Amino acid sequence: MSTEREIICIGCPIGCALTVTLSDGVVTGVTGNECGRGPAYARQECVRPERMVTALMYVPGASRPLSVKTAHPVPKDKINDCLEEIRRARPVLPVSIGRVVLDNVAGTGVPVVATCELTAPARVVITPLAAAVKPKPQSKAKGAATTMADKQDDRRCCADK
Ligand code: SF4
Repeated sequence: MSTEREIICIGCPIGCALTVTLSDGVVTGVTGNECGRGPAYARQECVRPERMVTALMYVPGASRPLSVKTAHPVPKDKINDCLEEIRRARPVLPVSIGRVVLDNVAGTGVPVVATCELTAPARVVITPLAAAVKPKPQSKAKGAATTMADKQDDRRCCADK
């Protein structure tokens, strides 16, 4: 039995609307394509669709998650399995860009690689405020008014004279 399927080609920004004819799961015809890449995409998409998987991975000791992606597209029906393995993985710091953080994800034969660098956060030493800030010595010349209270006191003294 033959069926028809409408899909959009993602081979380039034109986005041709393809009509794919399938017979017993086999692509027997493609129309609507502007170039030869359309039928190839239609066969891939209708018979064995694949997708790149991107995700964020938790890394113990890191201050932020690690951005990762599959090195190649994986079968669409394996996406959830890939995401579950990525969720459970615990790579070790430091991670360099392009490093394989998970091999053969979900049995697809495709590795997951880091798309950014991640290093251990710098150690921050917290010094108690009292020890870090020394009190300034009070050097006030005799008769000089430095605060509002002092100024008010001085004015009061002048009024009394
Ligand atoms: S069929 Fe060719 S021109 Fe059309 S969207 Fe696909 S790649 Fe682009």
